[in-house]
Amino acid sequence: SKRIRLDKLLSSMGHGSRAEIKRVIKAGRATVDGKPEKDSGRIINPDLQVVALDGETVMYREKIYLMLHKPPGVISATEDSRERTVIDLLAPEDRVLEPFPVGRLDKDTEGLLLLTNDGQLAHELLSPRKHVTKTYEALVRGPEAVGEWERERFRQGVELDDGYVTLPAELEILSWKPQEPDVEAGEGEGISLDKAAEVDKNGVDVANSDSNRGGAGDALFADEEENAKNGGVDDGLNTDAEDGGAAIISSIRLTIHEGKFHQVKRMFQAVGGKVIYLKRISMGPLVLDEELPIGSYRELTEDELSQLQ
Ligand code: URA
Repeated sequence: SKRIRLDKLLSSMGHGSRAEIKRVIKAGRATVDGKPEKDSGRIINPDLQVVALDGETVMYREKIYLMLHKPPGVISATEDSRERTVIDLLAPEDRVLEPFPVGRLDKDTEGLLLLTNDGQLAHELLSPRKHVTKTYEALVRGPEAVGEWERERFRQGVELDDGYVTLPAELEILSWKPQEPDVEAGEGEGISLDKAAEVDKNGVDVANSDSNRGGAGDALFADEEENAKNGGVDDGLNTDAEDGGAAIISSIRLTIHEGKFHQVKRMFQAVGGKVIYLKRISMGPLVLDEELPIGSYRELTEDELSQLQ
């Protein structure tokens, strides 16, 4: 079974650089099966031996599984010369095992993103054959409220701009409200998913006036910078707020069983709507932890992991 040098084991578990660890070991702070071990090159079998540092047992594992509540404004990549990536959100010790994002959320999309170094799991979750279910919540702006017509079209499959016809998807319409005239690009005012669509399906306004916007503002404007960078070329899919004219904002939940590029945005584009806010809330059996603040992450629980595997 597995063999690893003592210094490598400790540094790969995030306890310091190889050089630092060598000093720590020399100072007698590491033990193997309870006995001090000053030899950095001591070969360990992590399945059979217990390594401790300053009296604390160091669990060795090669795999890492993190649930990230992705904020808007960071890209789903491991490195980039100019953009902040989801990996930049991790503490240094959580980068040691080199997790990468499983699939991609757009820069302006927020919500559930799994980060792992488990290539096999990633492969299975991303395999088109597996039809892994993903659920999104979105705000969609259009000339009319999203309704039964869209629900039926998504159920049957819609043709995207490149001719691809989507698999049947389930659309749930949560609520809608007229776009307020003061929601303008550049004002820094946002719309939160919970609060933007306060008129319920019976047309009753359940809002209590003013103090109910804000919160997801960045999501609306996150890609403006990107547009500028691309020389202002707008593919019409960014969640910016510049098309004017449209009057109704619908709050929806959409479940899809595939993951084409910009899929949710393009599906609404196909039916004449524009996604102005997008958040993923589940992927396969994994559901975004509501207690997880935006921008933060945690390890998967045993339960979550076993459901994935
Ligand atoms: N669909 C999109 O359009 N964007 C995402 O980030 C995820 C799904």
